[in-house]
Amino acid sequence: MERVFIKDFPLDALETWVQDIGERPFRARQIFRHLYNRLIRSWDECSDLSKGFRTQLEYGTRLNAVETAATEEAADGTRKFLFRLHDGKLIESVLIPDPPRLTACVSSQVGCALGCRFCLTGTMGLTRNLSTAEIVDQLVHMQQAVGPERRITNIVFMGMGEPLANEEALLRALRILLDSTGFGFSHRRITVSTVGLVPQMARLGRESPVNLAVSLHAADDETRSRLMPINRKYPLATLMEACRAYPMPSRKRITFEYILLKDVNDRPEDARRLVRLLSTARSKVNLIPFNPHPDLPFERPSEERVLAFQDILQKAHCTATIRQSRGADIRAACGQLAARMVSS
Ligand code: SAH
Ligand code: SF4
Repeated sequence: MERVFIKDFPLDALETWVQDIGERPFRARQIFRHLYNRLIRSWDECSDLSKGFRTQLEYGTRLNAVETAATEEAADGTRKFLFRLHDGKLIESVLIPDPPRLTACVSSQVGCALGCRFCLTGTMGLTRNLSTAEIVDQLVHMQQAVGPERRITNIVFMGMGEPLANEEALLRALRILLDSTGFGFSHRRITVSTVGLVPQMARLGRESPVNLAVSLHAADDETRSRLMPINRKYPLATLMEACRAYPMPSRKRITFEYILLKDVNDRPEDARRLVRLLSTARSKVNLIPFNPHPDLPFERPSEERVLAFQDILQKAHCTATIRQSRGADIRAACGQLAARMVSS
């Protein structure tokens, strides 16, 4: 019999599965709690399950979908995890302490097909989608690594890959993470970042209440298409229409991410154009000074330039924060994940 990955199952699917192997449905809740509250490393830890059932779980399922291949800690406390998947592929995730928050930045794909010019993951191309279990297990392993004293408080889908290009697995993973029987994350503390895949955005809006971040990076089609090939398929007018139609409770806003690239999109007129573009959307802007890499053909603007850009937005009553990318010394900052870390 093919062994199933137990972390692929949201609670209702787990209920069906336990019944299929002859157990009562309430067993699913027990298993779910063991997996995501107690974070078990072995079925032996589940003393409330009969020996026979534990043996069935041991031989019929795979408890782990990822294994930790290496970890690295930056000077600022940011930790990068290199995870090996069952087929030997590698992904990276990052834990960012920012008390009282502890944010986990997780991957959704091995590589990415979208080829944004400023992103190292984009230079790898796409190898494959992650399964639901592989997405969820990144969180289980990171929480196990920090121990019971500290809880991961926030999750951002800003690691490797485009989450909405893997929406089936993503939506199942979100259901698991939000389920109060398990991790019980609040939807206010989970953010999905997308390059702007319009049809998938609409589905996410219908099916999950989590926060949405849209990677904008330019306020005119010519610059955006040059930076992000996806803009040819979903140009700004189409993307902004989808943003305006995005279902959100009244207090929520879409976050627009904007990487500042020296002399490419960081001029005062770019800021003014951005203000105009966002004037009709419920939005806030997150400015990300570019994180350089020898393989990427851009530069980071000066701090002065970054502050001047922010100032123009703020004077126009457009909320704009600057993201302090963390962990740059271990290549853990935004856009630097490529799973090429070699453990020594
Ligand atoms: N594919 C999704 C999520 C992963 S990327 C997306 O693109 O939104 C997460 C964020 O990191 C995006 O906003 C992305 O544009 C940004 N990013 C990528 N490369 C970067 C770099 N070199 N410097 C700074 N931010 C970068
Ligand atoms: Fe893919 Fe996002 Fe990188 Fe673009 S920025 S290549 S969508 S991971």
